Amino acid sequence: MPKKSPKYIFITGSIMSGLGKGILAASLSKLLQMRGYSVIPIKFDGYLNVDCGTMNPFRHGEVFVLDDGTEVDMDFGTYERFLNISLDTSSSITGGKLFQKIITKERRGDYLGRDVQFIPHLANEIKSWIRGVWESKDADIVLVEVGGTVGDFENGYFIEALRQMYYENPESIFIQLTYVPSLSPGEQKTKPTQHANRLLQSMGIKPDMIVCREDEKLSKEAKEKISMYCNVPFENVFDDPLVDTVYELPLVLEKQNIYLPIAEKLKLDKHKDANVKDWKKIVDNIKSSSKDLVRIAVVGKYTAVKDAYVSIKEALIHSSADQKVGVILDWVEAADLEDSEKSKKINLEKYDGIIVPGGFGKRGIEGKINAIKFARENKIPYLGLCLGMQLMVIEYARNVCGLKNANSAEFDKNTPDPVIYILPEQMQITEKGGTMRLGAYDADLKKDTVSHKAYNERVISERHRHRYEVNPDYIRKFEENSLVISGVHPKNNIVEIVEWSKDKFGFGVATQAHIELKSRLEKPAPIFVEFMKAAKERLSSRSL
Ligand code: GLN
Repeated sequence: MPKKSPKYIFITGSIMSGLGKGILAASLSKLLQMRGYSVIPIKFDGYLNVDCGTMNPFRHGEVFVLDDGTEVDMDFGTYERFLNISLDTSSSITGGKLFQKIITKERRGDYLGRDVQFIPHLANEIKSWIRGVWESKDADIVLVEVGGTVGDFENGYFIEALRQMYYENPESIFIQLTYVPSLSPGEQKTKPTQHANRLLQSMGIKPDMIVCREDEKLSKEAKEKISMYCNVPFENVFDDPLVDTVYELPLVLEKQNIYLPIAEKLKLDKHKDANVKDWKKIVDNIKSSSKDLVRIAVVGKYTAVKDAYVSIKEALIHSSADQKVGVILDWVEAADLEDSEKSKKINLEKYDGIIVPGGFGKRGIEGKINAIKFARENKIPYLGLCLGMQLMVIEYARNVCGLKNANSAEFDKNTPDPVIYILPEQMQITEKGGTMRLGAYDADLKKDTVSHKAYNERVISERHRHRYEVNPDYIRKFEENSLVISGVHPKNNIVEIVEWSKDKFGFGVATQAHIELKSRLEKPAPIFVEFMKAAKERLSSRSL
């Protein structure tokens, strides 16, 4: 039995989605972590998919992958980038996982003689899951973020389980995130918050704290109203303003002393100061306006949906803060690079760096290959991620090794040169959910390559999500033509990283792994940092 008692933070959202609940959750966790407490976040998503691996990025944004291969919602990226920790599957609860569990148990006969009900069975399942995380991770605090908004059908039973936990565990706190619109400057409307709060109270929950997303700083009157009509002390109503960078939010909340009510309810040391110095320095680097700006193109398929590539965007922010430059990021639609008129307009020449991200399916592939060819021939720094690595290999095979019709078996089953082919272990698989090569795998790095210098380690571990790989039959041919195979999976020789010979083609590195997923504000992805350095060099050589 653990000696200390569990401490929980529960966060629900109200009124509408998209208020930044994940960023609030991550910011509060960070402020606790900066005081030396260990916090493990848990996110509940009400959908009935077991995980979001089968969802289209158009609809759901990026699929984030954890070390253990769990495919999760984008918010996990926010947690990890803020907290600089790696989470596992136990932090992700979905409606699908819960029902799958309950039904498996029922079929096994675990509830023999009983009718299986939302309350108590499902609620107990949730409670023991959350408590289990607190115990097994030996965390000081577990923070639970409820996806969606209060009043949604699909999270009602989950909120009831949290109500019970809150009742049973006195060292816990309920936080309601809300939105306070302004009809015109100075005219703040608190009614939506009052209604949302009433809805929460009708479920038996009186939040201890209300955090307000807002169009302008809350007036004293608005705060008083929220306090009076929502049963929350005036000092426990907080501003969650629009910030220049999301990484600034912990600092903004710290200034308002948001720690105090949390410390009080969770029985933490109220006098402990947060060590914000290093974090603040990085945030200042991001915000500084007196720096050079590199221009980066991300050539992708979902460029209209920014959330589809959020980890890449964040990794660029981390690496540019590290290199003290700013980034202008352009999303280039790959299909447009298949049309010579549109390509001319896009003019890739103006970029200091080009990225081809991960992706599936044939659309836009030739446009991406054109971008890579352009980068290689014009020595524009290139970074390829997963599909972006496979396409770098295809481009090289076609235009340097002379294999004119080389392709991936994913796009052309009959290609004479399948330089990218399906992973042998993938051939028999027919089910789509959770069946790719997923999660963290090691790579051995070749000495003195760009990758080796970047990591300064011989064995690294990065996260994967793919079905195809470089066909080992072609490795010799590539190496004879001076493509550098700088990272290989130690067991079955899967090519993990390739590089152009720097002298011939400039900076070009591509990884089978999604290295963007492990980039954190305090620990940027090493190859992104090298890419940023190369982009910076190109910028300064151009302005000479
Ligand atoms: N479609 C490719 C594969 O499955 C690349 C996947 C990706 O970029 N995540 O191997």
